[in-house]
Amino acid sequence: MRHKPESSSNSKDQLVTLRCNRCGTPITPEEAIQTPTGYRCKDCVHQQQKVFDTSKPLDFILGFLVAALLSLLGSYLSSLIGFFTFLLAPAAGVGIAEAVRAVTKKRRSKRLFRLVSIGMVLGGLPLMIISLLNLLLRLQFGTFSFFSLLPLGYQILYLAMAVPSAYYRLTGNRRL
Ligand SMILES: [Zn+2]
Repeated sequence: MRHKPESSSNSKDQLVTLRCNRCGTPITPEEAIQTPTGYRCKDCVHQQQKVFDTSKPLDFILGFLVAALLSLLGSYLSSLIGFFTFLLAPAAGVGIAEAVRAVTKKRRSKRLFRLVSIGMVLGGLPLMIISLLNLLLRLQFGTFSFFSLLPLGYQILYLAMAVPSAYYRLTGNRRL
């Protein structure tokens, strides 16, 4: 689709080979940004990102705290339920994601979701450190057995399964 020439000079037309598929602005291949729906100009991509990023500063604090505290609880439970961590850790991740969504009123941003993941990992660390110290003491005093490894193993397993599960629940299939 071409506009009626407004002036005799068409030198820009030779540079412009693409149009933004949202606003129709002519863009050079260098300026064009490829999106899943086609080429767009910088302004449109920037606007689109603002629509996705609805988070408020308080969301970061609340989201982080909720994720860290619930993750601490999850890591404690995983050493109690042992083998069942395999089955329940993904559900725990979904539960944490839902709790975060509730306190942040479902507002979203990539940075928020990353921070929630970090919160979950940090929340799982204290008990992992305690388990590790316990393990080292057992090694030191010669009371180590295979079973001494289990609490730490289940806590690592919990984090490895719950964190991705929560992240996918938060981000969904939508590309941020
Ligand atoms: Zn545009």
